Amino acid sequence: METLTKKDLDHFAKLLAERKQRLGEEIRRVLARTGKEPYADILAGGSDAGDSSVADLLSDVAFAEVARDAAEVRDISAAQARIGAGTYGVCIECGKDIAFVRLEADPGALHCGACARLPVKR
Ligand SMILES: [Zn+2]
Repeated sequence: METLTKKDLDHFAKLLAERKQRLGEEIRRVLARTGKEPYADILAGGSDAGDSSVADLLSDVAFAEVARDAAEVRDISAAQARIGAGTYGVCIECGKDIAFVRLEADPGALHCGACARLPVKR
């Protein structure tokens, strides 16, 4: 097993936090444009943008943008929780290690390369 060291985990934790921050800002920017800013905190906090209550509030275009970002925020939140739980870097589908380079490219990755290529089930 390609065990991630404490240093690696700190590194990815930092990348995740930065990325989450950036996505939060992006969500806020889109929502400010559409006058729905009060909902930014809900979405940036990782709520499901597919919730009809939230979806109804957004225009279609804004929704597509925000939904994508909010989905990534959810993945990042999940990855952050997995760092805390000590399961970060392990594929949620097959249980194998996710390649370091893959995490480097996408710290929020929850699947190994092989499972990510399969039809998405989520
Ligand atoms: Zn896998």
